[in-house]
Parts: sequence; structure tokens; C-alpha cells
Amino acid sequence: MERTSQNLLGRGRAALLPLLIFLAGSHLSAQKSLPSLEERIRILCADSLEGRRAGTVSERITVRLVAEWMTSAIQRPPIIDTFAFMDEDSLWRKSYNVYGILPGEVDSFIVLIAHYDHLGWGGIRSRSIGRHSVHPGADDNASGVSLIIEIAASLARNLRRNSYLFALISAHEPGLWGSQQAAKFLREKRYDKKTLAVVVLDMVGRMSPESSKLYIYHPPSHNIPCTMRSTSRQTLYSLTPKLEESDLRFSDCFAFVEMGLPCFLITTGYHDDYHRISDTPDKLNYEGIYRVFDYLRACYLE
Ligand SMILES: [Zn+2]
Repeated sequence: MERTSQNLLGRGRAALLPLLIFLAGSHLSAQKSLPSLEERIRILCADSLEGRRAGTVSERITVRLVAEWMTSAIQRPPIIDTFAFMDEDSLWRKSYNVYGILPGEVDSFIVLIAHYDHLGWGGIRSRSIGRHSVHPGADDNASGVSLIIEIAASLARNLRRNSYLFALISAHEPGLWGSQQAAKFLREKRYDKKTLAVVVLDMVGRMSPESSKLYIYHPPSHNIPCTMRSTSRQTLYSLTPKLEESDLRFSDCFAFVEMGLPCFLITTGYHDDYHRISDTPDKLNYEGIYRVFDYLRACYLE
């Protein structure tokens, strides 16, 4: 491994040792206790996870953690998909996606996706210019990851018609590598033929209490389930869906749109703390995240 990351990894090992011991100890109890949505976000944003940068030791610890949560949520072990990506220093590194599969009554799939990686200690995508400090990425995207675990646990407890693939993906920040890998996985397993919709959750933690807006980006040709047009379901959630047509080139949807699959990017939108060290858990609107949950349950999940 190259010089820069050796330094980072060296520092990371010492800081992460207590967490490694904790995780080793928690393995057996993973089935019993799933931390709450709020706790999961706090854990993902802890200094000990060093901003969850793809290709680092911190990512490897994070992937183990989210895989344990997924196991606990759906009561079966997820698939870990290893792939290579090119980092901003033009070096190839290893990264990991986690796929939890939950069968339903029918073989049709709904795919839910959130990236768990973030910026680590900074780098060229950081907006905290000149600061070498842990970027917690609470909204981006601990919020989406924690919500997917919540959805998975809820669907696993209830009767469901469709089958689900929950993909917690990585190497998003260096260039949407994890979603390309997940799209490849769908093709290879032939799940793409059975996929009804792909729903990407990216930054769902900053709903404005005034407007309660939730942005749904979608390609022009795809129908949106359960929008303002379908009034009968509006009583089941209390937010304002805001539809935005887009080619989704900037998001994890793009790899799926290219495959011709209906894909929706769900987000509460950008804010001043985006890609800054100030994207911290205390700034999230947790009640808003639960509203997104209600909306998804009413409109996308059955
Ligand atoms: Zn980001």
C-alpha cells in the first residue's frame, strides 16, 4: 500500500483498536440487539470510524458493522461484494458493497440503495478547505444507511409481497463506483429482469421543518409511485414530495438508469454543511427521517 494511505492506516489502527475489540465481542449478540436509527448514525459518525473513506481500514471496519446490522435486521447474512476502484490519487484500492436479500411472496424485486462511505479526513471533495479533520458525513450518508436498515428490519417483521435487495454501497465519493458494481451484480444474478424499481437514499436527514420537502429525482420517462397526484395515500405521511426530472448522471441512480431500470433518487437536499466537517449528527432532523420512512412505506414498499 502506498505512502499516504500507510500513514493514514497507521494512525487509524491505533485509534480503532478498541472498536475492533468491541466488534469482535459484539458479533455473537448481533442477532439480539440492533441499535436504534439515531444510535446507528452516531456510531457511523464517531471519530473512531474516521469518516468512512473508501479503501481504508476505516471502511473495512464500517463494512463489518453495517453487515452486522443488516444481519440483525433481516435475520440472514448479507453478501459482501468486493471490487476495485480508482481513488483521487489515481491508485487502485479495494472496496466493499453489502447486499441483504429479503424474499417476498413474489420474485419481483425492489432495490434500495445507500452509500455508506464518506470523505475520511478530507481530500479534494471536501468543502472544509485546508482542514485535515474527520468528516463525519451524518447526512451524507449515515442518514440513508441507517434508514435502509430501519426499512429492512420493518419489512422483515411483516408480510410483504415483493422481494427486496438492500444494497449498502461504497466508493460513491470517489466516483460512484459502488453503484456501478451493484448494477453489475444485478445483471450477473439476472435480478435486473425482475427489478420493479431502484430507490436510492442519499442525504435524507435535513428535512426543513417549515417546508417538509422531500426531493424525488427521476428520469423523464418513468412514472412516480404515489405523488401529490394520488391523494388517497397522503394521509399516510406528512411531507411534501417535490418531483424533479433529471438524467441522474450525478447520482448512484445513473448506473441503473443506463440499464433501463426505473430509478428514483430520494433526498432532503443540499445544505451549507454538505461535504464539510460540520455535517454532524446533532444537525439532523430525526423526525424528518421517520417521515421519509412513512412516505417510502406508503408509496414504494409493499
Ligand atoms: Zn457526498
